[in-house]
Amino acid sequence: MNIENNKVALIEYTLTDSAGEQIDASNGTPLAYVHGHGNLIPGLEKQLEGKTVSDKFTAKIAAADAYGERVDALVQTVGKDMFQGVEELEVGMRFEAQSEQGMHSVEVTAVEGDQVTVDGNHPLAGLDLTFEVEVTGVRESTAEELEHGHAHGTGGHQHD
Ligand code: ZN
Repeated sequence: MNIENNKVALIEYTLTDSAGEQIDASNGTPLAYVHGHGNLIPGLEKQLEGKTVSDKFTAKIAAADAYGERVDALVQTVGKDMFQGVEELEVGMRFEAQSEQGMHSVEVTAVEGDQVTVDGNHPLAGLDLTFEVEVTGVRESTAEELEHGHAHGTGGHQHD
């Protein structure tokens, strides 16, 4: 069976940046996803199309087809009073912020006096990525998986 729209595929992967530094890896626990539903970054999903079990390949993906380019407008300086209830603000802290596009994660990148700079870019935005991928399974999706738009079971979404 080959990977195509609405099939569930399981992949082992190692993700590195352009300097060869490892960012993430499945480490023996394959990731399950539903092909064609935007579960993966577009550049990786495109290269998985048509692959089958045991296929191994290297996918070099430019930032635009990965987590997107960095957007300067997503870096904002706000008052400390936006963080009520936070004892001590430190660079590197992440918060969920409400915006017009819904909830998204921001990272504190600077704290100066009463001013806090937050960056709403995805941590991997602007990076060219390399994935070493091995396909470890391809199967039909269930009706429920299609309805939810993600895989269930091993390596997939775990519902409570
Ligand atoms: Zn679900």
